[in-house]
Amino acid sequence: NIDPASLCVFTDAAAGHEGVLSDPSGEIVVKPCTPAEVAFYESARQSHPDLAAYMPLFMGTLQLSSSQDASTTAPSSNGAAPPLPPTAAPLELDETRRLHGKKLQTDQCIVLENVAGSFKKPNILDLKLGARLWDDSARPDKRARLDKVAATTTSSPLGFRIAGMRTWQGQGAKDPTAQDEKLKGLVTLNEATEYWVYNKIYGRTFNEQNVIQGFTNYILPPKFGPRRTKAELERASECLKQFIADVKNIQEIFERNETRMVSSSLLLVYEGDAEAFDAAKKILENAPSKSNSVEDRDGEDDDEEEDEEDEDDDDEDEPPKLATVKLIDFAHAKWARGQGPDENVLKGVRSTVKVLTELMTKVNDDL
Ligand code: ADP
Ligand code: MN
Repeated sequence: NIDPASLCVFTDAAAGHEGVLSDPSGEIVVKPCTPAEVAFYESARQSHPDLAAYMPLFMGTLQLSSSQDASTTAPSSNGAAPPLPPTAAPLELDETRRLHGKKLQTDQCIVLENVAGSFKKPNILDLKLGARLWDDSARPDKRARLDKVAATTTSSPLGFRIAGMRTWQGQGAKDPTAQDEKLKGLVTLNEATEYWVYNKIYGRTFNEQNVIQGFTNYILPPKFGPRRTKAELERASECLKQFIADVKNIQEIFERNETRMVSSSLLLVYEGDAEAFDAAKKILENAPSKSNSVEDRDGEDDDEEEDEEDEDDDDEDEPPKLATVKLIDFAHAKWARGQGPDENVLKGVRSTVKVLTELMTKVNDDL
């Protein structure tokens, strides 16, 4: 049930255009979209459940307009997602302008699950996939510009680049650029939220050889203080294990599907609040199985404890998550039946598995 007048700026975006909104609960994102993106979400939901499982839950579309007639439309399929009833109060265009800082180019928005919504302090990494970053509708100048960005970043050699990220630095978070000159112009401290926000230039500073350092700042945010504790390294290792399992699943899905995605992203999210992380881990250990985003755990149950405590007194509550990976941004995505797997995207997905695995090895060596 969305009241457009209650929508506010979504503050957890790691990259991309302005204009993403959220609701007061923080459980959804409302994002300006293209018809192609809506069509892709609908078809994935209807006929590609394996891929849809790694996409944010699609909840419908929302028309934000100047003519005071905001309304929602439920997905036009089998109704597995709850329909969104029409809303009462409209979001006026003036207010839209004020919220966005710039005029919306489209009134058509897509309503999605906020995949970071269930985390207390989500640390978010947006990996833009593809060495080729333009689709056939792009004009020559745009192709040339994007090819140049790809050639001078990891996009070309690895098939992905870090498009943006944000990490919670905790109480007393310091200005990153005061600690490390090299971060000037790449990272800013948001004092209110205690997050470091890495801009799109950050990811462009890395090459094939050193991109692992870009990930290290994500998975083990710098503290400029005491050495890493064992607990910190263990959390990082656990997150990486889940990320790798998820991205490997995503790789398999792309290997047996025929898509053409241009500038879609892998969105990695993990719990950045150590206490919340440990609490979630404890709950998951006492109630394993279906809850986890990692489907096939690799048979390690040495940590499992027999616990008589019955945790499921509240069936409504989603199990907590330590980490999750989703595919996002389908503004230029389509199906390509008969044309084979999406090698442009697969290259980036495979490189991501490789870099995450290298990083996990490093973290485990330090343990
Ligand atoms: P664009 O890049 O075209 O502006 P994206 O779909 O990539 O649009 O969204 C921009 C940013 O918003 C992403 O980098 C991500 O951090 C955030 N975002 C988008 N969709 C979701 C979602 N469903 N849940 C959480 N965050 C999202
Ligand atoms: Mn994007």
